Amino acid sequence: MGESARTPAAPAWPDKLITQAEAFAKAADWPVYAMPAPAAGIDLLCGRCHRSTGQLRRGAVPYNGSLDEMLAMVLRHMVMAHEVPLNTRAPAGDGSFRERIREASNG
Ligand SMILES: [Zn+2]
Repeated sequence: MGESARTPAAPAWPDKLITQAEAFAKAADWPVYAMPAPAAGIDLLCGRCHRSTGQLRRGAVPYNGSLDEMLAMVLRHMVMAHEVPLNTRAPAGDGSFRERIREASNG
């Protein structure tokens, strides 16, 4: 197995704030792309501001190599750079998309 590394201060997943499924749904709407970085690295960049959300590879060393770490990188950037709120669970009956789907299927 190859060498790997994690972001040193990677926090635990904030389950109480947002589940990984909710986070995935949120991040899936956010444009990101991977680009070669200096010294054979690979950065994951934000498609809106084109700044780096973090490193996927530093030289020959895979970085942030799991899906939840990639997700955390994107979400952290969304929050820190674009002030996207994470805690946006919609209460029932508020006209949210899910609620509208429910209404459409009932009527
Ligand atoms: Zn950005």
